[in-house]
Amino acid sequence: MARYRGSVCRLCRRENIKMFLKGDRCYSDKCAFDRRSYAPGQHGQRRSKFSGYGVQLREKQKVKRLYGLSEKQFRLVFKRADRQKGITGTNLLSALECRLDSVVYRLGFVNSRTQGRHFVRHNHFLVNGNKVNIPSYLINLGDVVEIREKSRKIQFVVDALGAVVRRGIPQWLELEKENFKGVVKSLPVREDITMPIQEQLIVELYSK
Ligand code: SF4
Repeated sequence: MARYRGSVCRLCRRENIKMFLKGDRCYSDKCAFDRRSYAPGQHGQRRSKFSGYGVQLREKQKVKRLYGLSEKQFRLVFKRADRQKGITGTNLLSALECRLDSVVYRLGFVNSRTQGRHFVRHNHFLVNGNKVNIPSYLINLGDVVEIREKSRKIQFVVDALGAVVRRGIPQWLELEKENFKGVVKSLPVREDITMPIQEQLIVELYSK
């Protein structure tokens, strides 16, 4: 499946928001968004006016890029969210947060969701004691996510856990740092997602 392989900092600049896609660098003075907080490209510094459709499209692109999904994957998550009871936009965000690659990032085991996806793919995590190597695996209430014994000394993991205080753990998750383990205390609700997202715009876009 086609995956974006260009500079992720360009994505932050395009969406005009710090999406923290690069781990440590995002907190340093090397952050491209902090240095050049305008859209990339030759005409990036021009003032751009978006149509109604343009605003909806940008919002969808932002969320899709934040969670590192392709259009096809994102649409699939949306379709599932739409079929569920409740508010579609909230269901969508909740489903994205519950992906295993996002959960391991939220727990501070890795520095970014991209790194989370690689680590999940390479069998570094257990869910309820079982090996799971599917980044889109949806965690459930009460699930225990842990780093496998042999992976606990990987420098990336050690560094990420060392920096976890800076990022903070969302209240729906609980980290037992000394045991390299995290527990899902509750499923995420809208208030747990602190990034400025207007999910209603995505629902409107896909409902056309
Ligand atoms: Fe975005 Fe991080 Fe790059 Fe800054 S360093 S532009 S926050 S990905």
